[in-house]
Amino acid sequence: MTSNKTCNCSNKTRTACGNCSRLRMVFLMSYTLGNIQNPVYYSFQAEDRKFKDERILANQMLGRLVKLHRGLFFKIAVYDNQTAGKPKLFEFTKEDV
Ligand SMILES: [Zn+2]
Repeated sequence: MTSNKTCNCSNKTRTACGNCSRLRMVFLMSYTLGNIQNPVYYSFQAEDRKFKDERILANQMLGRLVKLHRGLFFKIAVYDNQTAGKPKLFEFTKEDV
């Protein structure tokens, strides 16, 4: 857990937060787009509480986000945002979604 908490989240907070959300999702954008920043998203804390399984939680995020970037990414990486070092949990390729 982080000790230098810089947000005002509580156990009632529903929105995504870089400190508190369980999952960090990065869309790795196609190289053909040139040197652009990969979009980063955090899971909604309401869904963090609702879905115990990280894959189900990630699929909820994908359902919202994938259409924003469809055809523009080649991979999606999902990280554990609450563990030191933020280890990667799993990846999706564009064929998976
Ligand atoms: Zn927070």
